[in-house]
Amino acid sequence: MRNYDLCVVGGGIVGISIAFGEVRRGKRVMVVDGARADRKASYANFGLVWAQGKGKGLPQYQALTQKSDDAWSDFALQIQDVSGVGFQFEKAGGLVFCLGEDEFEARKKHLSTLQETSPSEQDWEMLGRNETQHRAGDVSLGKEVVGASYCRRDGALNPLELVRSLNKAIERLGGDILREAPVTSIKKKIGGWHVATSTGPIECGEVVVAAGLGSKKIAEDLGFNLPIKADKGQILVTERRPVVMSLPASGIRQNQLGSFMIGATHEGDQNDRSTILSGAKLAQRAIRIIPDLEHVPIVRQWAGYRIITPDTYPVYLKPEKGLTFAVCHSGITLAAFHASDWLEDTKVFEQFSPDRFARSDKIGNQV
Ligand SMILES: Cc1cc2nc3c(=O)[nH]c(=O)nc-3n(C[C@H](O)[C@H](O)[C@H](O)COP(=O)(O)OP(=O)(O)OC[C@H]3O[C@@H](n4cnc5c(N)ncnc54)[C@H](O)[C@@H]3O)c2cc1C
Repeated sequence: MRNYDLCVVGGGIVGISIAFGEVRRGKRVMVVDGARADRKASYANFGLVWAQGKGKGLPQYQALTQKSDDAWSDFALQIQDVSGVGFQFEKAGGLVFCLGEDEFEARKKHLSTLQETSPSEQDWEMLGRNETQHRAGDVSLGKEVVGASYCRRDGALNPLELVRSLNKAIERLGGDILREAPVTSIKKKIGGWHVATSTGPIECGEVVVAAGLGSKKIAEDLGFNLPIKADKGQILVTERRPVVMSLPASGIRQNQLGSFMIGATHEGDQNDRSTILSGAKLAQRAIRIIPDLEHVPIVRQWAGYRIITPDTYPVYLKPEKGLTFAVCHSGITLAAFHASDWLEDTKVFEQFSPDRFARSDKIGNQV
């Protein structure tokens, strides 16, 4: 019988960030991941570490995002120190390009409104066209770009390498990872929990369910409702070009290898096929921002699924001692928070309880 202090169900970025933090603090940790065919947002995302513009209608989310963003540089060093695997993390700020005066004014209004409830001093500014061009780097911006918002907290990384690095770090610190072993049931027992997987049982003192979209069924089996659904997003990737873009932007970034990433659509819960229509919409806006992209070949296009709650913000639920659910969008951005010592912080569970959906119908906004 395998015996642990903590079993983390789900080996995506949320689960492995939590596992990394707990194993570093000395717990005996097992991560159990699901089937290869599961929907896995951690392998399909845009790789932004992003605070800018987030938190509409839920100031505690704004604060949480800023806190995670601020912890990211140390977090990145901690992971890389243990794993030796880099993931191209850069945090020099990020841009949101505005096409036309209407977009510029709307962006300014959105950020100004958010600032009124922000727990921290202003971390953003609106840039005119010349300053936007200057900060964007040696890339020629289209004539419709009138400016951009800039936030100093933002950054980007290679999400696949981040996952690889965290997995390696967990194992080097003595944690175990069981892959392709879906959890089939979780049952309470004296002094802890019995977790059944497709490759046999695990006994543990504590369970964290961070199984992305798979968390809903696990919660249902335990008698709890997790209000999450899938939101399909597509991304385009171009052939590599000399690196000219100095900062990542929401919707368009150039990675360190030179590929431009363009994304991401919001398409609700539907099939995972990549489509010409979505690709065309993404490409059209990208070309208006950077006209030189017009003739750059696309080498990849994919679709992934965000994990979305009714207001798009996280749900952290601890319905019983030793049992926690953690589901969210923006799991890359929130990874530094998830690795922190938050599992015993009752305030987090009050602030991000699903009970808030009974009180409010406000909709958030996410990258
Ligand atoms: C197109 C797109 C762009 C995005 N861009 C960004 C971005 O720029 N920045 C950002 O911060 N976030 C971004 N996100 C969101 C981010 O990718 C997700 O928030 C994050 O990956 C969620 O991680 P997760 O671990 O909760 O879920 P997942 O990555 O989906 O992992 C869940 C894991 O649980 C496992 N599982 C399921 N059921 C079971 C079971 N019964 N037993 C055991 N394991 C199980 C699955 O196999 C899977 O490995 C984006 C998402 C998409 C789709």
